[in-house]
Amino acid sequence: MNTLHQVDGALHVEGVSLEALAARFGTPLYVYSRAALEAAWQAYADAFAGTPHLVCYAVKANSSLAILNLFARLGSGFDIVSGGELARVLAAGGDPGKVVFSGVGKTTDEMRAALAAGILCFNVESESELYRLDRVAGEMGRRAPVSFRVNPDVDPKTHPYISTGLKENKFGVAIADAPRLYRLAAGLPNLEIVGVDCHIGSQLIDLSPLADAADRVLTLVDTLAAEGIALHHIDLGGGVGIRYRDETPPDLAAYGRVLARKFAGRREKLLVEPGRSLVGNAGLLLARVEYLKPGEDRNFAIVDAAMNDLMRPALYEAYHDIVAVRPRAWPAQRYDMVGPICETGDFLGFARDMAIEEGDLLALLSAGAYGMSMASNYNSRPRAAEVLVDKNEIHLIRERETISGLMSGERLVY
Ligand SMILES: *Cc1c(COP(=O)(O)O)cnc(C)c1O
Repeated sequence: MNTLHQVDGALHVEGVSLEALAARFGTPLYVYSRAALEAAWQAYADAFAGTPHLVCYAVKANSSLAILNLFARLGSGFDIVSGGELARVLAAGGDPGKVVFSGVGKTTDEMRAALAAGILCFNVESESELYRLDRVAGEMGRRAPVSFRVNPDVDPKTHPYISTGLKENKFGVAIADAPRLYRLAAGLPNLEIVGVDCHIGSQLIDLSPLADAADRVLTLVDTLAAEGIALHHIDLGGGVGIRYRDETPPDLAAYGRVLARKFAGRREKLLVEPGRSLVGNAGLLLARVEYLKPGEDRNFAIVDAAMNDLMRPALYEAYHDIVAVRPRAWPAQRYDMVGPICETGDFLGFARDMAIEEGDLLALLSAGAYGMSMASNYNSRPRAAEVLVDKNEIHLIRERETISGLMSGERLVY
């Protein structure tokens, strides 16, 4: 759903002018559209309507409480990767009975917190983790619900840093080893086998790796069933890509039809863990041009947002569209869009043709996922504020950090 549009020559999100938001809250500023978030959610609900399923929003894509709360009210489950994310889900009113806990390095404290909360499932990623979870659950007098995260070894055809389902990745257990591990888990006293999980990568543009991974996981489930190990759910992970530039992401309805055929007549519930595709195109980062710096080789536009606010370009060479909030009437010039941080890697986009002036506002699009949740304080920059727009209403969902706040936990040595 596109909730970004021009009104009287300037960009608005839903019924709210970005110029007005910048004047009121300053920049850099994350701006989200409630309608876009809810439409993304509804697209999953519609696509999977024919199959008993649970959508577990991958919290790491954007963990702001207001966004978690919106999804919780739509009935969402959550995929968490830390105790911090569990605390956020609970604070946002999420149902712990719909929480799955992924990640290769769960600590004992995190296991305890998740067991105490009563989560749906631990997605176990190694044999050592299995033993530790059994012990921790035993100490608490509980049974821990477990799935193995299996690594189906399919090539997701995405950026190497965000591909997770190949043999050489640190995630999951080899699918060939899974039957042995399930037998082992079945013999441990404080565990209850509930499912299986896989997640092969992120920003997947092709449906075929997702479908291949599903087939491999379903074959495993049938093998386990033949041994008397029955599962309640099959979690096929997240990873559905979005359009940043000109990609044609997988059609969710088509994905839903593919999975509906595969799940027809099966007793296990389908789980999915989308992150990016629920929030990515529902948010933008609003920034202001500080300086234009023409050069012999290239021109720079130095903006007040940086790699600490939006790390994806620096980290993955990711592309974000950058548009002027009120485009100028003169011909565009080509700029490298950079932030003020003292790193050559601090860029937001290269060779962008823009008609802009110092002081103009820019919108960095598709910044709702892995934007604010990856933000840091590098160069002692307070993290941006976040605003949620709901038609004509404006909600400040996170205050801008203050410099005194950044220093508040620090002590001098005497
Ligand atoms: C990151 C992650 C997701 C979400 O991936 P997206 O590409 O944002 O949909 C889902 N599951 C696990 C285990 C993850 O680590």
